[in-house]
Amino acid sequence: MRILALDFDGVLCDSSREVFVVAVDAYALQEPGSPLLRRLTELRDDAANGGNDHLDDHLVQAFADLLPLGNRAEDFGVTLRALETGVAIVDQEAYDRFYANHERVWLEDYHRLFYEARSRLRADDLSAWLNLHLPYPGLAETLRGHAADTKLAVATAKDSRSVNLLLEELGMADVFGADLIMDKETGVEKTHHLRVLRDRLDADFSDITFVDDKVNHLEQVARLGVRPVLAGWGFNTHREHTLARSLEYEIAFLGTADAVLFKGD
Ligand SMILES: [Mg+2]
Repeated sequence: MRILALDFDGVLCDSSREVFVVAVDAYALQEPGSPLLRRLTELRDDAANGGNDHLDDHLVQAFADLLPLGNRAEDFGVTLRALETGVAIVDQEAYDRFYANHERVWLEDYHRLFYEARSRLRADDLSAWLNLHLPYPGLAETLRGHAADTKLAVATAKDSRSVNLLLEELGMADVFGADLIMDKETGVEKTHHLRVLRDRLDADFSDITFVDDKVNHLEQVARLGVRPVLAGWGFNTHREHTLARSLEYEIAFLGTADAVLFKGD
């Protein structure tokens, strides 16, 4: 049996626009006196209104460049803080050092504000919120082409309501069986998701290919004996591609996804 499990954000769904909008909304509440706020808000509004001008801005590009170094909602706040202070962050170590300067309460407040801002955005106008999420070109078709010969699963830290709404929006609702969509309730670590998946399908870890856009998630699951593949189209940069290669993980790109993910056909 061949099983392909995929992370959601940065693998199945390009949520970079939504994340930027929500991150700025939360930052505006957390740091109302920030000198960057006026510019960030202009960029946020462009993103929220479907514009593309913000993509050329150095602040948005620097934000995207730092995203792979974080893991949780509070990291978006820390990242915006880094842009504000102009601190040079070149690698994980430098990021972790900068992160450690933040008080626990600051991080917790930002985490809460981020999820509140997201809920508000979704409740205010659901279709506008859905529109902030973009498909990765060709991916839905690639997966659908293998739905008959591969068990396709989702392993994500997102909530299932959002995941189901977005799969529908992205034209992938029919690709995954309902019992193979594992959300944040399944566990914090991707290893939890993969253990549940293995048990549910009565399979072996060696039957499973797991695709994530974070190298550290791949490192966790690789220890189980799962085949790790980095989604090179997701939230990562040349820095993470080099790291993945040093760990001997394969990297799939949108043009090679079919060949790399479904190897052995
Ligand atoms: Mg991801």
